[in-house]
Amino acid sequence: MTEVSQKILLVDDDETDRMVVRRALAKFNKKVTVVEATRFSEAVELLKENEFNCILLEYRLGGIDGIDIVKKIHSEGLSDAPIIMFSGMDDEAIMLNCLKEGAQDFLLKSEITTHSLMRAIRYAEERKNITLQISYLAKYDSLTDLSNRSLFIENVERAVTRSKRANAIFAIIFIDLDNFKSINDTLGHEAGDQLLVTIAKRLKSSLREEDVVGRLGGDEFAVLIEGIATETFLIKISQKLLDVTREPLIIEDKIIHSTASLGIATYPSCADECTALIKCADLAMYKTKENGRNGYSFYSDDLQTLADDYATLKCDIHDALSRDEFELYYQPQVNATDSTITGLEALIRWHHPTRGMVPPDKFIPIAESLGLINEIGDWVMEAACRQLKVWISSCPHLQHDFRVAVNISAHQMRQLNLKEKFCHVLDNNTIPYGLIELELTESALVDDLGRCTETLSVMNDLGIHFAIDDFGTGFASFRHLQQLPLQVLKVDKSFIDQICLSSKSYQIVKAMIVMAHALEMKVIAEGVETMEQVNLLQTLDCDHLQGYHFWKPMPAHDIEKLLADPKYRAQTEMPTMLDSEIM
Ligand code: C2E
Ligand code: CA
Ligand code: CA
Repeated sequence: MTEVSQKILLVDDDETDRMVVRRALAKFNKKVTVVEATRFSEAVELLKENEFNCILLEYRLGGIDGIDIVKKIHSEGLSDAPIIMFSGMDDEAIMLNCLKEGAQDFLLKSEITTHSLMRAIRYAEERKNITLQISYLAKYDSLTDLSNRSLFIENVERAVTRSKRANAIFAIIFIDLDNFKSINDTLGHEAGDQLLVTIAKRLKSSLREEDVVGRLGGDEFAVLIEGIATETFLIKISQKLLDVTREPLIIEDKIIHSTASLGIATYPSCADECTALIKCADLAMYKTKENGRNGYSFYSDDLQTLADDYATLKCDIHDALSRDEFELYYQPQVNATDSTITGLEALIRWHHPTRGMVPPDKFIPIAESLGLINEIGDWVMEAACRQLKVWISSCPHLQHDFRVAVNISAHQMRQLNLKEKFCHVLDNNTIPYGLIELELTESALVDDLGRCTETLSVMNDLGIHFAIDDFGTGFASFRHLQQLPLQVLKVDKSFIDQICLSSKSYQIVKAMIVMAHALEMKVIAEGVETMEQVNLLQTLDCDHLQGYHFWKPMPAHDIEKLLADPKYRAQTEMPTMLDSEIM
């Protein structure tokens, strides 16, 4: 019982009984205000106008069954106060029924004393508090205070009913954080929790009071927007939600950049009932993930096929390593002036038992989301080194600056033991460190610039080279390029595609090459497909070229034939000289 004054509602039609209770309460060592009602209707009025700490309720009140009264108090939301019932009848069945309907205690009138009442009131309050806490936990997420999945679904169900009646439309937006797992893995669960709490607050504050925000579990949030659901409005809202998730936040002195993938579904155009609607929003969210994350997508019917695809791949990828279904292909990189091979990029392929070859763009994001990318990445490094060892012994004439490039995903970069792991593989296969180049995308580098710089420097000192991949498509700034020890800049294919067609692209590529050279980096142009592109890139002083114009990625045994040629000259007149490539 709290120290503050207690306000108790006593409902009993018998004057003598009321007096007994009143006297017992008067001897309380706490200040108690007793308000009395003799009829149920009177009690209802009092409950509407007052907040009580406890209700003492006679079981039989003017012919009304006490159980019905308890039900009415709860169903009409008249009061949250604990209810203690009392009766002259010692009937266990009645007592249990009252408790089942939500009364906190049941006393026999003959047992009423100051002590028994005081104890009953204190217990009733405690029981009520626990019940409230449990029902809160059942509906709200205790970390973020947002509605949990079940309350969110309840809200959507209600919105469906309301909208059906009113012929209205509404929308739900799924929000999934893109890099939560890696933040959790590298910075720990506390940091992960802080991120979730901050994102929850930001989502809530960027929406209207009446919009429902829920945490569906893990790093998945959802928003229910009623009233307005036009496409323009939803795009605006989605932009806002993306903006607030993108804002950097500082956790434990570290700047965290998080992004989110959104999926939007509207009632009734996508689906006219709750479960289907939620599935639509989920599918739309996966489409955003497929499209490179950090954006939003509206649900469309063709997403169902995408979802089926995704679901089977998600299942099968778990066993792909143990079933030995991965293979490395290699794509030559050539010297821009004489077309000799200067290196190879290792590119993973998945030979799916029923689907045939699955491209990495399709399964790498799945492996990342399932947390399997590190295992797959380890396999890639191991396989590349084993292969390189074979080539070193069979082609002793490999150029001094010949390198095999291995792609590293952002998730792998966050492993604290990356250096040790890679060095171990290189040592086991007696590979000189200088023969390996690691390709990182811009997003992998801006994640935690301080730590990246340190990791790269240490590995750099050992002789391992680093290339920045897909340059121009991410968010790396010149400052990042200056600070990070990178040896190679790979100009993204999208710029090379346009280089002969748009003077703007030409100028951009030109500027990238000048800038890279100023930073003492070599430049590789990716996705070179035509002789015109080769010529133009030569005039721009680009160092290396890679693309279908020279060779497509191919299996190791085909590469072997190339490397066996003492000159390993690319035959630029014949873009696809080996027909082993399937992709
Ligand atoms: P990426 O690192 O940018 O690799 C270059 C991609 O461009 C390869 O696609 C390659 O086949 C393709 N390509 C090269 N030249 C041309 C061209 O002239 N025209 C066209 N249209 N395409 C060209 P691929 O092998 O499908 O790989 C796609 C992406 O998957 C890679 O992009 C990389 O981000 C990722 N990936 C591949 N292997 C690995 C791996 O072992 N680990 C990780 N983490 N990611 C990988
Ligand atoms: Ca690459
Ligand atoms: Ca690339």
